[in-house]
Amino acid sequence: MVSSKRKFQPATPAFDAASLANDATAKLRAYDPGHDLPALRERFGAAIAELGSNENPMGPSPRAIEAMRAALPLTFRYPDPRGAGLKGALSAHLGVAVGNIALGNGSHELLMLLAQCFANEKHSIVFSEFGFAVFSIATAAVGAEAIRVPALPRRHRSTPLGHDLAAMARAVRRNTRIVYLANPNNPTGTWFDDAALAALLDAVPRDVLVVVDEAYHEYVEASGLSTALAFCARYPNLIVTRTFSKAYGLAGLRVGYLVAHASVVAVLERLRESFNVNNVALAGAAAALQDKPWLARVHAFNRAEREWLRAELLERGYRCLPSQTNFLLCVMSRDATKLENHLFERGVIVRPMGSYGLAKAVRISVGSRAENRRLLKALP
Ligand SMILES: *Cc1c(COP(=O)(O)O)cnc(C)c1O
Repeated sequence: MVSSKRKFQPATPAFDAASLANDATAKLRAYDPGHDLPALRERFGAAIAELGSNENPMGPSPRAIEAMRAALPLTFRYPDPRGAGLKGALSAHLGVAVGNIALGNGSHELLMLLAQCFANEKHSIVFSEFGFAVFSIATAAVGAEAIRVPALPRRHRSTPLGHDLAAMARAVRRNTRIVYLANPNNPTGTWFDDAALAALLDAVPRDVLVVVDEAYHEYVEASGLSTALAFCARYPNLIVTRTFSKAYGLAGLRVGYLVAHASVVAVLERLRESFNVNNVALAGAAAALQDKPWLARVHAFNRAEREWLRAELLERGYRCLPSQTNFLLCVMSRDATKLENHLFERGVIVRPMGSYGLAKAVRISVGSRAENRRLLKALP
């Protein structure tokens, strides 16, 4: 009998598939999953504080859970490849036509799909220093040139380390196909207002797709900032992505969506995997959208808890950037690795920022009150 643990031979000079990878993939590295969370949950039990992935500690609406339960017996069927139920709910919720919506297995998939459908080795893609990590991965995956625009300076009055939209508009070249923006941005928590976005949209030619990733939109309340959706009618090259992973508390379900000109959606549909959003996810996301009181509670809890946590951290000498999200970026005067390890040994998981070139920073998600207290208690 062949053991289920049997492994094929290791890579040898005679056979190593790494040398067969295409040029773009050859330059990529696999996603670093960070800590082994299932193992940590076993080790620390209820004493763990998972503050590394910007999940919503309140979880999803009970109505979403109920809808997902009801969908379980249907999982022997393929899901609706059109996602008509969820798209209909989004259409009503956002006031846009169904033909302007595409669904993704998380918004990550949609951000990748945009690059795959619209860019190749001949093109360049513009994004900000400290911009969301998927932007550079999507660019590399299609072999496009990355134009990484320096972020606003650390001493900037309102949004230190934020996107410099004027510089990004100037960075656009003749071969630029996509500009990726995140508003608010992860990992910095920074944001830009409607006026800054309008200026960029006016400055950029129509054959450049401007993608605004609004993963944290439901947490926002800064003055002068509404949503890029307000500009979609005027700028056909504008694309807005959102997700159910953050405020809706459904990170494990993998559902995201985008709103774009119908012709953009039609192109994406050519490459989109037909059943990319599963039955349970379609049902859960549609139900989550209906529960507005739940979202309001999530918003209010997050705002109060984030500001409390920020003040407590400041009191202990940790400087956190202003945030419109459910996380804080704390910048220190020394390398953050020691702090991260110290917290880790006490069951408090935060995200180191070395991969972003921010070795002296950690990103801390706003957890439940109990988790946040655990963090504060565990600090050296
Ligand atoms: C978390 C996050 C996403 C969401 O990714 P999903 O694939 O939808 O879970 C997208 N953009 C940013 C900036 C994020 O932080």
